[in-house]
Order: sequence, then C-alpha cells, then structure tokens
Amino acid sequence: QAKKAGRNTLRFFDPAMQEKLSVRASLESELRYAIEKHQLALYYQVQVDDNHRLIGAEALIRWIHPERGIVSPVDFIPIAEESSLILDVGHWVIDTACLQLAEWAKSAEKKHLMIAVNVSAHQFRALDFVQSVHQAIDLHKIDASRLKLELTESVILEDVDEVIAKMHALKALGVRLSLDDFGTGYSSLSYLKKLPLDQVKIDQSFVRDLAYDPNDAIMVKTIIDLANNFRINVIAEGVETELELEILKDYGCRLYQGYLFGKPVPIEKLQFSAI
Ligand code: C2E
Ligand code: MG
Ligand code: MG
Ligand code: MG
Repeated sequence: QAKKAGRNTLRFFDPAMQEKLSVRASLESELRYAIEKHQLALYYQVQVDDNHRLIGAEALIRWIHPERGIVSPVDFIPIAEESSLILDVGHWVIDTACLQLAEWAKSAEKKHLMIAVNVSAHQFRALDFVQSVHQAIDLHKIDASRLKLELTESVILEDVDEVIAKMHALKALGVRLSLDDFGTGYSSLSYLKKLPLDQVKIDQSFVRDLAYDPNDAIMVKTIIDLANNFRINVIAEGVETELELEILKDYGCRLYQGYLFGKPVPIEKLQFSAI
C-alpha cells in the first residue's frame, strides 16, 4: 500500500521533499553529538509582573550549528522526541538552568528570579524524571522553588492518575509547575481542578488576535477568570503590543512574556532592570 502511494504521488520524487528528509536525517545523526560538542545553548526570555519588573525568564533551547547557524527548537525537538535523545537533551536543559539559578543565587538582586524550563511529554514520562530533577537541584544546591517546569497538555493525555502522582512528587521537591500552551489541547477544564498547578500559561495563539478577534478575547478572559478562581496564577505569552498588554491587564492577568518586553536572548544579553 505504501509502495503504491509512493508510485502514485509526485511527492515521492519531489526534490524539495527529498531535501527535507535528508536534512532531517542529518540533523538526527548530528544531534547525538550536539551536547558533547557544546552546541546547545539556552536563550532566556524575560517574564514580568504588572509593574514591568522582572520575575524571571523562560529558558528556550537553541542549537548553535556550525554550518546551519541557529537551529530553532521547532526544528529539532520533535526529532529528539522520536528517540531517547530527548532524555539527554531534557537532562542537559534542566542541569544548565539549575547551574544558572546557582549563579543568580549568589547575587542579592537576582536570587529571587525564577527560571522556567520546558519539559517534553516523553521526558516527563521517563521513570526517573522526578529523581533526575531532584539530583539537579541537589547537585547545584539551588532553592527548588526558583525552578519552574512548563508542562503541556500532551503530558496529561496519558494515565491521568499517574501523571498527578508524579506532579505531586515534583511539588514535594519544591519546584513550581506551569501548564504551557493552555487552551490549545483537550479537556483542559476538567483537569485544571485536579492538577497541582501553580500557573497556567495562555497560549500565544489567543494573544495574537486578542485585540481584534472577539472569540480570542472571550477565550483569554475565560482562562484568566478560571485561573483566578482556582487561585492558580496566570501568565500570558506572546505579548507584542501595548494594546494587548492593556487588555490583558484589564482582564486581570498580572504576568506577561513576549516581544514587547524582550525576545529570547543569550544569558549575557538578558536585561535585569524594569522594562
Ligand atoms: P513555548 O514553550 O510555548 O515557547 C514560546 C515560544 O514563543 C518561543 O519560541 C518564543 O521565542 C516564542 N515567543 C515568545 N514571545 C513571543 C512573541 O511575543 N511573539 C511571537 N511570535 N513569539 C514569541 P521558540 O523559542 O522557538 O520555542 C518554540 C517551542 O519549542 C517552545 O514553545 C517549546 O514548546 C519548545 N522548546 C523550546 N525550548 C525547549 C526545551 O528546552 N525543551 C523542550 N522540550 N522544548 C522546548
Ligand atoms: Mg514554554
Ligand atoms: Mg507556549
Ligand atoms: Mg499580536
């Protein structure tokens, strides 16, 4: 059947498609060595409160590729996720973020700042995930409450009771939990009350047209009300304009992240003063 489809579609011979497949294949083999070759980097994007004061940053991975330049996580995280490579990458991310928190802990002005890291579903599901987070916290002797793990709804699609138990184990370590891309998956509402979450993150797709699309405005308002009623804090991502910020404030959202405040940058370029 596959053979037949291959013969009957131009796609099979499409040079652009072939090129994509070969780029993918080489990325996959090169990714294996990216960690040991020190080609991975964390960029940081500020998160601010309603006084535009820094509360922390989200760590966003980049692959500094010797020939391809900066490769976006959108182009290699899905490849990593198809194999156990995501476990090594995920481990590197948490370790590097904890190392950065240990640095900040030495500074009176920075020790209150939090770092949020993205955790893939595959990584969360690993049997030793809680233990590996625990080890990173111990190794770098950081205050666990400065570390925030961003989970997506894809994590919750699996065995819910098991996921909740794991989340409680993470909470017991002292780390914070945020639900990323909130509103884009299924069943968000029914799970929200069951999960030990500290934060939900409004997906940028709702923020993008917030000022123009009444449906998105309703989504955003509903998420904020819901989070406030459940006493879970809420952060908006993808805030790009003053108008979006104004609406979010008006709706009762107090935490923001987006190009309006800063793009993801290497650590040495992160701006610590109020924005
Ligand atoms: P995400 O966690 O939802 O991160 C937000 C994405 O939106 C980031 O893209 C960020 O650069 C971008 N962004 C932030 N503010 C704005 C804005 O105002 N406007 C627009 N248009 N975009 C904005 P990025 O860095 O390319 O990351 C994409 C996704 O890759 C992330 O989405 C996350 O799912 C994944 N990712 C990034 N780093 C990691 C990581 O260390 N581990 C894992 N498992 N996934 C990661
Ligand atoms: Mg995120
Ligand atoms: Mg997101
Ligand atoms: Mg916009």
